[in-house]
Amino acid sequence: MTTTTEDGARGTEDEVRGTEDGARGSIGALPWPQLLRQARRLADLGWSEVPQAAAELAELAVAGPAEVFALSRRLTEPNGSIVLSSGGTTGPPKITFVAYDQAVGRLLREWRPLGPRSVLLNLFSPGRMWASHYYVQALAERSGCRVVPSGPLEAGELHYWLDAFESLGVNAVAGTPSGLTDLAQAMLDADRTLPVRTVIWMAEPWTEVAEKTVRAAFPQAEFWGNYGSVETYVVATNTSACDLRVLHLMPDQVLELDDAGALLSRVGEGWTLPAVRYRLGDRLAAAQCRCGRPDGLRVLGRADDAFKLHGSLLSIGELVELATSVPGVSAAQLELLREEESWHGVRRMTVHYTGAAEPAELRRALLAGSARLFGIELHHPEALEVVRVPKLTMVERTGKIPPMIWRSR
Ligand SMILES: [Zn+2]
Repeated sequence: MTTTTEDGARGTEDEVRGTEDGARGSIGALPWPQLLRQARRLADLGWSEVPQAAAELAELAVAGPAEVFALSRRLTEPNGSIVLSSGGTTGPPKITFVAYDQAVGRLLREWRPLGPRSVLLNLFSPGRMWASHYYVQALAERSGCRVVPSGPLEAGELHYWLDAFESLGVNAVAGTPSGLTDLAQAMLDADRTLPVRTVIWMAEPWTEVAEKTVRAAFPQAEFWGNYGSVETYVVATNTSACDLRVLHLMPDQVLELDDAGALLSRVGEGWTLPAVRYRLGDRLAAAQCRCGRPDGLRVLGRADDAFKLHGSLLSIGELVELATSVPGVSAAQLELLREEESWHGVRRMTVHYTGAAEPAELRRALLAGSARLFGIELHHPEALEVVRVPKLTMVERTGKIPPMIWRSR
């Protein structure tokens, strides 16, 4: 089991302390003088200016994609970089220049899912400027193991490959929980298995069904998770000693919790990108973990998950949670149809779901569980549709099943 090294500077009076309430506060701790030094250094490189009188982190400017673009380009100038992008599916692409080593050296000091005997199946899609595939290749390279860059596999083509994977000795897989579930289900359907001992996952949360399916296909597997973004790379990690949904902030970082998206600051060397108050797109909460290590966090959902259905504000995360809490619903996804000439207004919402529950049952539960939805439905019964589907929509580029997809007409 890996352990997090304690920050040597812990316990000073100026530090930003973590809290456990989840609503506000922060995770991790760094001394203010160290943060201020970092802020000044980054300001000299084109990051946000530091006010003369700044006396705490909250007085520094919040940074976004523009700062990441400028700083990452500048820092990678001498040795070249991979140009990667997040977004681009539902909004404009956000570009980050990432050094070729992809900060794997720093990560491996505390998180080592692979060894020289590992043979890793990399299920992440290559290309399209998405980071995960290349990150997993670098992780395998630095771990000194074999890697099979297969990308995602269609159920229909899996049987051609299974014998090959078996003869190669594949004993580790890396993918999104959705991609891993597809592989696991195909193996279960074919009544086959691989002796997988290591499952590396990231980029989306586990549903109960996904976890059950992957554990059924690979009963001996240990689960190793990452939390991060294309802009920041890995921010937090977990191991099989942890709760599957709790990850631990890596040292030298502090996260300020904020409903508009947590803010990341980090010091020290070896990151793909240093940062002061960079706004991640997720809402996070502090969490205890069964492993006992400090600085646990839980990903609550995207910060920008609100939309207006016929003028009433709804939360994508809350509706998906409500739907999946209904017995017989395995997973759910909202399909939103925009009002004409509006980016945020929604005319119709279709709740797609998998599982044995009847659509009328789920519809009833949604209306009973959301007073706003009930109010909308009174006047616009056509605004809500509930449809059972064999499979939710996966974004090909990222291998994720997002909680919401836009429909054009
Ligand atoms: Zn833990």
